[in-house]
Amino acid sequence: MTADASTKRRAYIEPVIRTIAGGFVFACGALIYLKPEWSWLWISILLFVGFNLFQSGLTTFCMMEKLLKKMHFRSELDEIRNLSKANAEAEARAAFYDTLGLLNEVVIELAPDGTLVFLSDHWLKLLGSERHSNARFLGLPFVAFINNHDHSAIEDLLKTLLNGERDTMSMRFRMQRDDHQEHWVEGKFALYWKQGQVQGVRGVLRDVTETHVQEKRISHMATHDALTGLPNRIYLDDRIDEEIRRAGVTGSKFALLFIDLDNFKQINDLHGHKSGDQLLKEVGNVLRSSLRSTDVLARWGGDEFVMLLPFAEDADVPRKVAGELMHKLRLSLETKYRDTFVTLSVGIAVYPEDADTGEALLVQADKALFYAKSQGRNNIQLFADLQTSAAGYEDVDMTSRFVAAVKQGQLQVYYQPVMDAADHCSIVGVEALARWHDEKYGWVSPATFIPLAENLGLINEVGRQVLDHALSHFSQCSGRCADLKLAVNISTRQLMSADFYPLLTAMVERYGLKPGQIKLEITESIALQGIEQARGYLKKLSDAGFTLSLDDFGTGFSSLSHVHELPFDEIKIDISFVRRIKTPEGRILVKTIVDMGHAMQLVLVAEGVEDSETATILREMGVEMLQGYYFSHPMPKEGCADFITRLQSAPFAAVS
Ligand code: C2E
Ligand code: CA
Ligand code: CA
Repeated sequence: MTADASTKRRAYIEPVIRTIAGGFVFACGALIYLKPEWSWLWISILLFVGFNLFQSGLTTFCMMEKLLKKMHFRSELDEIRNLSKANAEAEARAAFYDTLGLLNEVVIELAPDGTLVFLSDHWLKLLGSERHSNARFLGLPFVAFINNHDHSAIEDLLKTLLNGERDTMSMRFRMQRDDHQEHWVEGKFALYWKQGQVQGVRGVLRDVTETHVQEKRISHMATHDALTGLPNRIYLDDRIDEEIRRAGVTGSKFALLFIDLDNFKQINDLHGHKSGDQLLKEVGNVLRSSLRSTDVLARWGGDEFVMLLPFAEDADVPRKVAGELMHKLRLSLETKYRDTFVTLSVGIAVYPEDADTGEALLVQADKALFYAKSQGRNNIQLFADLQTSAAGYEDVDMTSRFVAAVKQGQLQVYYQPVMDAADHCSIVGVEALARWHDEKYGWVSPATFIPLAENLGLINEVGRQVLDHALSHFSQCSGRCADLKLAVNISTRQLMSADFYPLLTAMVERYGLKPGQIKLEITESIALQGIEQARGYLKKLSDAGFTLSLDDFGTGFSSLSHVHELPFDEIKIDISFVRRIKTPEGRILVKTIVDMGHAMQLVLVAEGVEDSETATILREMGVEMLQGYYFSHPMPKEGCADFITRLQSAPFAAVS
């Protein structure tokens, strides 16, 4: 038998026994009345039984209590007991709430239906309201006080908790404040239970606006460009990954536009870095103003931007967008930058046709941009078009090989002698000409790679390398070359760059040369910069002692009167005129140039002299210097040194 069963049995037997004992006492009482002589005996019996009776009564009372309790009646005693317990609990709770009021955090309790059942003191602060008391909010749904943007997230969180999927959850969200300020709150929520039953959700809310703003600022700095405020590469990479994921789900396409400012370097050089920065900001603003809400514009670095256009199902859309950007930019900036056209080159690649990763897509867009630049300025190219055109693809390939060659310093310099036109035809100088030999394409003409370098913004580097080689070689042949002049071709862009003059003078000094030994061949396009400006650049060089030669004369835009205003020392008659010299008109043309040049006290040089007849005609016209295959092809420094030595021991004889 279990202890429990025996207790139960005793509970039932005891009152019965005690009731019998009670009856027995009643009988004894009657006997005392009837037989007083037995009283001593009966009194002790009575005492014993009376005690038992009392105990029995008490037990019966207790039994009755238990029974009533089983029937859900509450005894008054319980009432009293519970009341005092509730009072103690309430007191403890009030003390607890008072303590909560001291915290900066707000403690809330929600019923399972999401309504507020408890709010600690600082709740009003979270709402930016000082007007109401907390009591007014009790019974209202918690989500009613959450900013619309975060409504559904909070609803989801409460659902997850109340469904029992998680016990605790945290979230950062915004409150719907009376003062309409954006305040961020960090909330930690947990289910709370009582006697095995979910009572609701408890939460601790903390205002983290300051931290949030700081965090945002830091993450903004990490993902945005400081100058233009545009997203940077890191941000762009994330967005590209996002687009690729989306495309994986929806099958949509997107395009990347690689955008490059054509004339940025020029503006930087002409107007200084501050103006350059200002221009970049303005371009950023113009491009940004054309964005749809789904587009992204990032600054890639320098004067390069990348635009991400989602939903590019039609390949014409990105091309059209690029065209509009160009148009808009011209309209916005043409009045401000009147002396320099601010134009764009754009390369476009489309996902997934052109590449299936973000990185590869950027490479393809960059290739298309390369091609656009190599085609001149203000150009848009799609990678897809470029692939279908073999020429285009080859151009891109060659362009990238050229860039690599420049970066690795693989350019060479050849020299072509410049001869005195007088009878003995002695050598008076050499012209340095850039050369590039590529494994795949062989010798590539400077007529191809110099414009390429200009379009790619590499001309300064190319020019620097050529100058460095040429001055170094020239300084090495000081004895034989003492009376010679070294002519170097200088591109207009190179000439106008702010660091050209200091670079040139430093180099001349480094190689122990004098400016008087150096001739700078500059084309007529310098006059395009405006006569005043051109004069400024040239005068500085002329004052420093360099000889200035106007190259390719006659092919450009400037008239002789313009030339007169610039401090040139000599004119190089272009090869196209020299070639026509044997025709009557050609002869008249060259004669006019020579006479006018002389009238302006300029020295005349003719290039492209291929035979002795041409040399004679030019000499008779009074041209002072001659250059061309008749005397020598351009040659490496060693060949040129031999040529000079040979000439110095014997006058020129047309043997080659
Ligand atoms: P340019 O300055 O007019 O150079 C003369 C060009 O004519 C050279 O071509 C030379 O090889 C070629 N030439 C010389 N004599 C004759 C001849 O008798 N007949 C013919 N048909 N051609 C002759 P190259 O070396 O191909 O250079 C082409 C152009 O590339 C140069 O024309 C110059 O404008 C540019 N260039 C070359 N090197 C440099 C450089 O280092 N910097 C810059 N900015 N431009 C350069
Ligand atoms: Ca030249
Ligand atoms: Ca020339």
